[in-house]
Amino acid sequence: MEHARPLPKYLAQRYAGWKATSYEDNKAWYRRLASEGQHPRAMIISCCDSRVHVTSIFGADQGEFFIHRNIANLVPAYEPDGNQHGTSAAVEYAVTALKVAHVIVMGHSSCGGVRGFYDMATGAAPELQEKSSFVGRWMDILKPGYDRIKDRHSGEDCVDHLEKEAVKVSLDNLMTFPFVKDAVEEGELSLHGIWHDIGQGDLSFYNGAKDAFEAV
Ligand SMILES: [Zn+2]
Repeated sequence: MEHARPLPKYLAQRYAGWKATSYEDNKAWYRRLASEGQHPRAMIISCCDSRVHVTSIFGADQGEFFIHRNIANLVPAYEPDGNQHGTSAAVEYAVTALKVAHVIVMGHSSCGGVRGFYDMATGAAPELQEKSSFVGRWMDILKPGYDRIKDRHSGEDCVDHLEKEAVKVSLDNLMTFPFVKDAVEEGELSLHGIWHDIGQGDLSFYNGAKDAFEAV
């Protein structure tokens, strides 16, 4: 496999710094994590966006969060068709094997995936409409959210609302997984939606009773 190259120097150097300091100072803790396995209390589903830093904003340590990231923090509907579903596999493992108590879907401001969906839906991004576009076909998951709001919102206002619809669609789709629905109904699992404003540092949560996002 000649296409696999050594790690870039800047990363190798940063790693060496971490090993000599953070790791060295907490070696016993890391060894315990390794020997006892993981027991995270929460699963977080967030966007791949490099500005979304869920461990930072919650001050989380190793072992605390089971994190899955994908374009626009979307969960597809339950579809046991024998194909390869990365997000569904992560949800299944978190809920049935790790038995997390919370699944938290986190959306964020200026999400490129959501912007792409809006452009595609309004005819401004024909390349995303191609069958071969992985991003386009993935973002199709957001369509029910768009259909809910498209008559009331347009332009930037619509894109802003769509970021929150992405969270709501994911929460809806989570409940289509029988093992998620069962765990929720038995009181063993709770689902949460949050949205993070990167520039302002604000965090809001989805209040299902009011169908609205409110400040945390
Ligand atoms: Zn995003």
